[in-house]
Amino acid sequence: MARDAHCHSCGTAFTNTARYPRECPQCGLQVWANPIPVSVVLVPVEHRGRVGLLVVRRAIEPRKGLLALVGGFLEEHETWQQGGAREVREETDVVVDAATLVPFWFTSTEPRPNRVLLFSQSAPLRSEDLPAFSLTNETSERGLIFGPAALDEVFAFPLHAEAARRFFAARGIDGPHEYTTL
Ligand SMILES: [Zn+2]
Repeated sequence: MARDAHCHSCGTAFTNTARYPRECPQCGLQVWANPIPVSVVLVPVEHRGRVGLLVVRRAIEPRKGLLALVGGFLEEHETWQQGGAREVREETDVVVDAATLVPFWFTSTEPRPNRVLLFSQSAPLRSEDLPAFSLTNETSERGLIFGPAALDEVFAFPLHAEAARRFFAARGIDGPHEYTTL
């Protein structure tokens, strides 16, 4: 059945399902499909004298096998900071303090603006301080990238690549992404 084909309250079929909001002809309930926020965290990690960005290799579709920054949907009781820190812990075993996350870049997805990506940045960590990585259902590797070049070839999502490029540009870092597992 198509999503939101019927009124959530009284079950009456909507007559116009071409767009939102939908208004029930029977009870007047309106159904909206608002864009959903996604909290994505850029975690700088000092490793052998350089600063890299924490990434994961996706073990699930979409874009299985490609790299991504760490993030996900918020749970109903979470701020974007808390949800971002939880995703980092769940996907990488890395602990970041939610209170240290600062806004980095907010953008809507394209071409459908049905998600709003809330990129934030954590305080820098040191690779020798990170706990061991354990595989998860969603993540097959944990690693670092060290530069902006050719990120579109290895990243799952163009907007994650753009956020990473902005991170490196702000630090004056150029050159190959040089992925390494961690
Ligand atoms: Zn109704």
